Amino acid sequence: MEWFEESYGDASLRIRIKRVIADFESRYQRIQLFETYSFGKMLVLDGKIQLTERDEAFYHEMLVHVPMLTHRNPKKVLIIGGGDGGSVRETLKHDPDEVVMVELDRDVIEVCRNHLGIDRGAFDDPRVTVLVEDGMDYVISAGEKFDAVIVDGTDPNPFSQHISSAEFYQACERISDVFATQSQSPFAQLEYFREVLENIAGVMDFRVYINFVPAYPLGLWSYVIHPERYPEAEEIRRRFIEREIRTVHYNPEIHIASFALPEWIRMIVDRIRK
Ligand code: SAM
Repeated sequence: MEWFEESYGDASLRIRIKRVIADFESRYQRIQLFETYSFGKMLVLDGKIQLTERDEAFYHEMLVHVPMLTHRNPKKVLIIGGGDGGSVRETLKHDPDEVVMVELDRDVIEVCRNHLGIDRGAFDDPRVTVLVEDGMDYVISAGEKFDAVIVDGTDPNPFSQHISSAEFYQACERISDVFATQSQSPFAQLEYFREVLENIAGVMDFRVYINFVPAYPLGLWSYVIHPERYPEAEEIRRRFIEREIRTVHYNPEIHIASFALPEWIRMIVDRIRK
């Protein structure tokens, strides 16, 4: 294969492939790992790009540092999905006592750990517990609370659509101080974006923030957050410095600016939040 192409309706993104590292069907999905010419290694699940080495930090840093810096002192963190290890890696930068990652597909973890390595050792950190099970089952039966619950899931498919259901969000709200989830592209996947917001709106108040991730559908990406309290800008800046976080994309100014929504997104969000 010379090119990998992912289509979103009438548009598509094409990335030139140098080499296929892995390509097989797991129990849940087709897993492909490619080496590309200019995006580094690229993980694809069921034909959808999950990350490229070149821009994965744009996504993982915004998904993780916004909720983690929203919390005063996050020591216990739950990640749902995230089998590539990028979210766990970023979470460890906050020096938590305990991180639990619940990923459904063992093969995603294995391929990424053995051939991708973006976890940079996070999977072997003694503070990290990796559980291979359904995120929904875990949160429904969880008997403990977390300072932050972060959802790093896939686009909706038969085994992942319930981790964007109202029932799932209800359970997450019950066990978290700060909750955050990725919510796909408001431009290329408007229907799914709306559905996530509607399901969350029935359960908790929330805000949406956005950033740019080039390898995701048409580049614009979104996230939803629900804290007990939003910190002032000064507090975010102070926490970032105190925790000595090193990043390639995130900084406190981007954090603050990412909540400024263009009118067309603000109107969608406001209609649903009412
Ligand atoms: N946000 C990235 C994206 O959309 O491109 C997601 C990347 S991460 C690899 C998503 C992970 O969520 C996958 O490894 C998938 O196996 C996992 N996942 C999907 N449904 C799940 C569920 N019900 N419970 C736990 N993990 C799940």
